[in-house]
Amino acid sequence: MAAFDYFKQNVQKAADLLKLSEEERSTFMTPDRVLSATLEITRDDGSTSSYPAYRVQFNNARGPYKGGIRFHPDADQDEVSALAAMMAIKCAVVDIPFGGAKGGVTVDPKELSKGELDRLGRAYVRAFADNLGPDTDVPAPDVYTNPAIMAVMLDEYETIMGAKAPAMITGKPLEHGGILGRDTATADGAIYVLEALLEDQHRSMEGIEVAVQGAGNAGAQAARLVQSHGGKVVALADSHGTLLNEAGIDIDAVLKEKASGKSVHDAVAHGTPANADAVIESACDVLIPAALEEVITAKNAGSLMATVVLEVANGPVTPEADALLTARAIGVVPDVLANAGGVTVSYFEWLQNRSDEVWTHERVTERLKQTMRDAYRDVADFAHERGITLREAAYALALTRILTASKEVVS
Ligand code: GLU
Repeated sequence: MAAFDYFKQNVQKAADLLKLSEEERSTFMTPDRVLSATLEITRDDGSTSSYPAYRVQFNNARGPYKGGIRFHPDADQDEVSALAAMMAIKCAVVDIPFGGAKGGVTVDPKELSKGELDRLGRAYVRAFADNLGPDTDVPAPDVYTNPAIMAVMLDEYETIMGAKAPAMITGKPLEHGGILGRDTATADGAIYVLEALLEDQHRSMEGIEVAVQGAGNAGAQAARLVQSHGGKVVALADSHGTLLNEAGIDIDAVLKEKASGKSVHDAVAHGTPANADAVIESACDVLIPAALEEVITAKNAGSLMATVVLEVANGPVTPEADALLTARAIGVVPDVLANAGGVTVSYFEWLQNRSDEVWTHERVTERLKQTMRDAYRDVADFAHERGITLREAAYALALTRILTASKEVVS
């Protein structure tokens, strides 16, 4: 299913629940603005290449547009629009004063050198600078973009504007106004939500058995945190394979081997290797998809053994699978709540830049924990009171908050 259709389906469900009028629903069906451009860069060999690029500004009722920029061969207008819409929902779920946006360049970044990627980042800012800014639209990293690219983009923007503006972009390196803890924020936030959910079920992280799909930034950090909170990572997968160990995988040891160029399933001293999909159906209490979209489908949803799915990736569960998991009473913590820790710490970075302060790591951690726990509480209470899923509750709550803000703007 096209990503934006899936988003609209979630919005329709929430809108039915809230009995919204057609006019109110229309707020969530089309982006405020779809900006597109063709970025031309000079390659290292002197030739020229061009790449389609987008910035979709979905809704700014609650504050400046906010959302990352991805460099990916599959990034297209539909995907970027869906992700922009999800950012608006995400920011409203964690109740931070931002709207939703997303950017994308259709490019395979693995084919470009560091210098070419820098030039692409600069070209992106030149194309969209008029529509970006600390009070307008604040980008950040996303798939295959990183703090170094954010620094280059900031430099280009400041050159164009002829003034310092560190709050125009987040996820920057520390020396360019970045914030401590932004790199681990997505996984940290997800684990705070998981802790709060387990408390509701009179369980704790101690001894909990977790399967993690993804050994990139978010997956690796989630696995480390599970272990440091007394849980056991019984399955860990990357795109090549899964490593299984009922006694709990030694995460640091396996990640060290992975860093030397191997796959996690090559670390046979630490578990039993299996194919890449095995992680989904492995025996565990909690499954954390932290890599790709649409990995839990109608085909495998019937054989999941977990009782909780924590969506650290965006859109890992298809709508059909979502219905099957709900029928099986498997709790799904939706992406718009589970992975909102990243943009939450981006908000702290923006605040830090605007007040010219430097936040300590403790301050970031404390405030992130509180924000994620509050958001979980709001969503869980909303769901329990109405007998609906956490995803339905998250969307309904977000729609309510966005509509309230739009009405305040109008009146
Ligand atoms: N790209 C991240 C997300 O999808 C972070 C966005 C941000 O920090 O603005 O949530």
